[in-house]
Amino acid sequence: MRFEDYSLIEIRALLRKREITAAEVVRAVHEAIEERDSALGAYLTRDLEAALEEAGKADAGALLGGIPVALKDNISVRGQPCSCGSRILAGKYTAPFDAGAVQKLRAAGGIPFGRTNLDEFAMGSSTENSALQATRNPWSPDHVPGGSSGGSAAAVAGGEALGALGSDTGGSIRQPAAFCGCVGLKPSYGRVSRYGLVAYASSLDQIGPLARSVEDAALLYQAIAGHDPKDSTSLSAAVDDSLELLRDGVRGWRVGIPREYIQEGIDPQVRQVLEAAASVLEEAGVAVEEVSLPHTEQSVAAYYVIATAEASANLARFDGVRYGHRSERAEDVLEMYCRTRDEGFGAEVKRRILLGTYVLSSGYYDAYYLKAQKLRTLIRADFTSVFSKFDALLAPAAPGPAFRLGECADDPLRMYLADIFTIPANLAGLCAISLPGGLHRDGQGLTLPIGLQFLGAPLSEARMLRLAWNFEQATEWWKLRPSLARFRETRSASDDGLGISR
Ligand code: GLN
Repeated sequence: MRFEDYSLIEIRALLRKREITAAEVVRAVHEAIEERDSALGAYLTRDLEAALEEAGKADAGALLGGIPVALKDNISVRGQPCSCGSRILAGKYTAPFDAGAVQKLRAAGGIPFGRTNLDEFAMGSSTENSALQATRNPWSPDHVPGGSSGGSAAAVAGGEALGALGSDTGGSIRQPAAFCGCVGLKPSYGRVSRYGLVAYASSLDQIGPLARSVEDAALLYQAIAGHDPKDSTSLSAAVDDSLELLRDGVRGWRVGIPREYIQEGIDPQVRQVLEAAASVLEEAGVAVEEVSLPHTEQSVAAYYVIATAEASANLARFDGVRYGHRSERAEDVLEMYCRTRDEGFGAEVKRRILLGTYVLSSGYYDAYYLKAQKLRTLIRADFTSVFSKFDALLAPAAPGPAFRLGECADDPLRMYLADIFTIPANLAGLCAISLPGGLHRDGQGLTLPIGLQFLGAPLSEARMLRLAWNFEQATEWWKLRPSLARFRETRSASDDGLGISR
């Protein structure tokens, strides 16, 4: 079988009818990876034997009924390596337990299969900060897949996975989903367990699904959502059945477009896609109006203070004693800490640890960290006020389509500023979904996906999925697939023609 032609929901139906077995699905995914991944670079590792063993025991009647799911390599799976895309862990650390989301995934009949590439410790927007390999955009090998969950998005869009899990601290599920033309859901803060997700910024991190359709994403979300006593920030509220509610209409809903999101700096084609989406919603009976989120502009600054502050504390655990790499060139313990971290962390991680340590240090705390927290409160209040009158917000997922590999690599500020549309949802703990909304054409024959976002109040996942499903069904964008033939040519592992070492 060529599973690329089927959705996750369709494969589940075939499993339920016993027309195929879970082992066959795992093998089909494995073959697709073998065929293309040396060129695409979505996966870091995978354990076929373990997946086949689980497939043998899979219960076809369960929610996911034997579906293999790819996992970003910062989510712990018992007995499997977890590198976080970093030299400090790669080849030197094996997770001793399953993450809460993985436990739920297994309980729902999902089979963890394959670990996907990411920006080191999920810090980045292009997956170029991975210390281990480059990942390409399935729509164009010269473009980034987005990040930090770029491997998960490339695997899904590149026909190498039916669905995947990623993590989203400031957009890392939604932006790569948008760049690769798939669907990505960032659940509300606390909706999915963070237990076993290697922490980047604990007050912002959430695990969520990436898939090829809204319905597939809803299925994966349903499998992993819910309370986990091992994560103290996990919410105990009941999880609505988003699959059950998906097909209900949205007539009479009110959707806002934030005025601050459509100002200069966004690609004109993204703006057109946004306008076209508003018309699609209006035809479905939705009232679309402009709204204001006055503190939007400050959100990037607030995020990069809070996220780096938290990262500087979270990453203190990588000291050469407890986890992973330890320098062999040290004479005493202090030198061991320093050399271990110098050898193990890449430039972006070091930059953020330095920045985060600085904004927390005495004398600067009030000026930066405290101020950022105050801004966070104002940003959250902007959303609370809008959601008292509106069911959802419609926004771009990113200011433009995927950029070229290397294009922004030396300009971290440019990369940070492009997170403006995804960061606010994390600062305010909202749920947000990104999905294909159109195509970007460069005039030279290159087309790249453009992603849209729906943002909702905390715990409105079922309603955002429903809105996204209604939009999706009224459009054709989500059915478009990149041509994967070019990834079939075998490239040598060390020289892939673009000078990027893998
Ligand atoms: N691009 C953002 C950053 O670099 C978001 C990353 C994420 O969501 N993990 O921090």
